[in-house]
Parts: sequence; C-alpha cells; structure tokens
Amino acid sequence: MRIPFNKPHLTGKESHYMYQAVYDGKLSGNGEFTKRCQRFFEEKYGFKKCLLTTSCTDALEMAAILCDIQPGDEVIVPSYTFVSSALAFVRQGAKIVFADSMECNPNIDAEKIEDLITPRTKVIVPVHYAGVACDMDRIMEIAERHNLLVVEDAAQAIDSYYKGRPLGTIGHLSAFSFHETKNIISGEGGMLGINDARFIRRAEIIWEKGTNRAEFFRGEVNKYGWCDIGSSFLPSEVIAAFLWAQLESLDEIQAKRKQLWNKYYELLKPLAEQGRFRLPDIPDYATNNAHMFYLVCNSLEERTALIKKLKENDILAVFHYLSLHSSDYYKDKHDGRQLPECDRYADCLVRLPMYYDLSESDVERICGII
Ligand SMILES: *Cc1c(COP(=O)(O)O)cnc(C)c1O
Repeated sequence: MRIPFNKPHLTGKESHYMYQAVYDGKLSGNGEFTKRCQRFFEEKYGFKKCLLTTSCTDALEMAAILCDIQPGDEVIVPSYTFVSSALAFVRQGAKIVFADSMECNPNIDAEKIEDLITPRTKVIVPVHYAGVACDMDRIMEIAERHNLLVVEDAAQAIDSYYKGRPLGTIGHLSAFSFHETKNIISGEGGMLGINDARFIRRAEIIWEKGTNRAEFFRGEVNKYGWCDIGSSFLPSEVIAAFLWAQLESLDEIQAKRKQLWNKYYELLKPLAEQGRFRLPDIPDYATNNAHMFYLVCNSLEERTALIKKLKENDILAVFHYLSLHSSDYYKDKHDGRQLPECDRYADCLVRLPMYYDLSESDVERICGII
C-alpha cells in the first residue's frame, strides 16, 4: 500500500456546518462561523483579537501593512522558511535581512539577530519551524531594547507553547495557516493574531477592503466608508464553517498526531544514537505539536538515497525549503553573507509521512525501511 506524504483529515462534520452556513443564507465573510472560530482562539489561547484570513500569507501581508513597512525598511527573517514569511514584507517595499538557523534545529538563531540590526530595522519575524518554539524571551528582549516589532510566523504552530505561553500570543502580531498540509485545515485559510491592542482597529479596516464595515455592523457608526488601504482578506462563511468542524476536534487530532510522532521517535532513536542521522531537537522551553516528523541526514547524498529507497517502497518522504537567500528572486538582493546552517537543512532535512489517518503499523513499516 502506498503511503503518501500528507493526507487531509476530515472530522465528518465539515459538510454539515457548510450546509448550515449555506442554509442560513450568509455566505460572505465575518458571519457566525467566522466569529465562532475567532472566539475559540481568543478564549482558548488569550489573543487580544483574531481575524480569519484566506491564508497565512494574507495574514502576514496584513501584518506587514500594520507594521507600517515603508520602502527600504529592514525586516529580519530566517532564510530557512516558506517564501511568504519574507514575501509579505517585500510587497510593502522591505529589504529582507536573512538570518541563519540554529545548529540544533532549523529555527532562527536568536543569538545572531542583534548583529543584523541597523537604524532601518523595523521587524523581526521568528518562524516556529515544525511547531517548535523559537527562543521568544530572547527575541522579545532584543526587540524591546531596539524598539522593533515582532511578527510570529506561527503557520505550523497551532496549539504549541513556549514556557507555557501559546505560540502566536507572544509577538505583537502573528499569522497561522489552515492550508491542507497543516494540523487543522480549511483547504486554504489562515488567521491574524493580534496581541497589541493598538493594532485592532486598523486591522479590522485593512481586513474589510480599507473600510470601517466591521464597526458599522456592530452599530458603532451609522455609515461606513473608505478609511485606509486594505484588501479583501476575509474568507467566506463556507470556509469558516469547515474550519469550525476541525476546531471542534482539535484535541483529538493533536493527540493522534503526537502518538504517531512518539512512535517514530521511539523506533528511530537507536539509529540516531549510532549517528546515522539526527532526530528533531525540542528545547526545554518548547512543546511539540506534532506538525512534522523530520530527520536531518549527514549529507545530501545520504538524504537523496533515503528518499529514493522509501520511494521504491511506495513511501513518499520529501525535503523542505531551499534557502531563500540563494533563491532566484532574492540572491542578487542578498548581502552575500553565508548562512551555513540554513544550507545544511536545505540539503539534509527530510520529512516523513505525517497525517491523522496514518497508522502505527504504517510508521513501523516506514521505520523498518529506514
Ligand atoms: C504553510 C506556511 C505558510 C503559508 O501558509 P498559507 O496558508 O499557505 O499562506 C507560511 N509560513 C510557513 C512557515 C508555513 O509553513
């Protein structure tokens, strides 16, 4: 039996809630299901305000606007990340200053951030790779000392914590993804998390095409109009209804994923102890939300051979990011600094199949082949 890399999980209630949204006759955004999803996050994790978006990329674009990025402003972003972490700021005219990863895991190396700060620096974007926290105390302390904003790219980090604090609630703003490859999905989808209350009003306006429509519908103003820039960042109620079904099953989904993750870890530990590859490193300050199970091979050749061997056995394992500082789009704009840890993860990291409907015996079969 073929084992894919990812398979979207359905809880069974998605179509029921989607039908309800249709039946209620409210299909555009910011209706009951949207509010329910936003309230879920605000109450469970303590965000000041959450706004659903059509993707995490959109939430990052909203964050870039809220940070008031002007052409030439500098934003510090890890190079080993998804394009959107940088792209959203580039669209506002930012210059990206790429940072290297840590030696122990692919997250941004907080100890190397301070050397990258100049008078033009405005924002730091920590990305919680595989849902494992960056060193947020260190990053927030640096940001405070230099008067910078912090936007957490928490695309992979739902229901994960740093020293007991939910990821996405620590920086000034944060962005989540509900893309079908994440733990909780709505096909395409995302959310902006707001932790600094001074951003709430403007965020609602940017979200609704630059208008104060949200205030109008709350009865706070008697007409609404054009107040600012913005776009149509909000998803339809049909998407929010789908997402609500997923959120109702969050605990069950997380428990199953963690069980599979632990099985992988236990079965692969002996090989890691022999130095064949490295397993994910989760620092004491971080939790694991089982978004991803990855190995770091000792070389590109070994990784290529491993992916090939798994493929011959109908198992799809995949590598991940190519360093953004050497991408076609950015290599001529990068300042030329070497980022050796990013390049090592680009060459050596491999992700194994990880999804709710994977079974423990699938994990045993995969580990047997490894
Ligand atoms: C998935 C992902 C994104 C993009 O999410 P979309 O919802 O597809 O826009 C951004 N950053 C990281 C780190 C991701 O993993």
